[in-house]
Amino acid sequence: MQCDVCPRACKLHEGQQGFCFVRACEHAEVVLTTYGRSSGFCVDPIEKKPLNHFHPGSAVLSFGTAGCNLGCKFCQNWDISKSRELDTLADEASPETIARAAAELGCRSVAFTYNDPVIFMEYAIDVAQACHAVGVDTVAVTAGYMCDAPRREFFAHIDAANVDLKGFTEEFYQQVTGARLADVLETLEYVVNETNVWLELTTLLVPGQNDSDAELDRMTRWVVERLGPDVPMHFTAFHPDYRMTDVPPTPSETLARARAVARANGVRYAYTGNVHDPDGGSTYCHGCGERLIERDWYRLGAWKLTADGRCGRCGLPCRGRFDAKPGTWGARRMPVRLADFDARE
Ligand code: SF4
Repeated sequence: MQCDVCPRACKLHEGQQGFCFVRACEHAEVVLTTYGRSSGFCVDPIEKKPLNHFHPGSAVLSFGTAGCNLGCKFCQNWDISKSRELDTLADEASPETIARAAAELGCRSVAFTYNDPVIFMEYAIDVAQACHAVGVDTVAVTAGYMCDAPRREFFAHIDAANVDLKGFTEEFYQQVTGARLADVLETLEYVVNETNVWLELTTLLVPGQNDSDAELDRMTRWVVERLGPDVPMHFTAFHPDYRMTDVPPTPSETLARARAVARANGVRYAYTGNVHDPDGGSTYCHGCGERLIERDWYRLGAWKLTADGRCGRCGLPCRGRFDAKPGTWGARRMPVRLADFDARE
């Protein structure tokens, strides 16, 4: 049987697992073998996903499962994504329990994160439907490496996405991530042109691998031309991990340089991440330059947006999904045991 969820197109014999480890052939069908099980739940600031233009300051209930359909040598989450141990999946939770927990905890949204939701899309879609039934939004943090039909099915249930644009050459994608750039670009164009999903992009800059001026120039020009100037871009710092322990951490100057290239090419909202940089983490009006949302790590400071999401000084709209006031969750990270919510059923 062939799995058609992602372009890897794994061909599986009875009982065999795919590259992602969680999809397998059972009774002549490709199924998700880890439905309903998670590697853990945590309430985070939405800025941590990172999403800077989607209900800033709000709390998001984050969870992931195990496995991944990419093979990034620099994986910053490999204990989950490369897990072959089902005991990683200790937390059992029905979609309804997750939705109720999010609502009771005051979370504006639930995020499928830590590993790529593409591979557990049946579970993610059921969770999304349960969330929408109680007024909770859904967020996908993904590499966007998926086939057309599942892409349409999946994003129909998602309100906001942060998609990794891991580099801008096929060589980097194929040699370092095991995926194809062209398929990811197709997902990005689909999300922007054919859905109402709020999209932000993240690029983890790995020294000497994907951080040249030329590559950043080509990437950011493509984003402005094909996705428009309002899609926020986050340039984040790599730390040596998994199969790339011989590469040094990303210097903060590299992140500042990437942000400058993006802004020069017309990206209106470019950010640095994983470093202390209040200037690179704040949101500015693209018209008058007013600092609209001050950020220091995940903590919000001064707020200069009007109740309808415009610059308080010049009145230009700032693109995104904004509430009349910023959320008040702050920078806290709060692990949650879903079993506590099950017990109340
Ligand atoms: S989702 Fe998993 S099983 Fe399916 S093609 Fe991709 S890697 Fe293979």
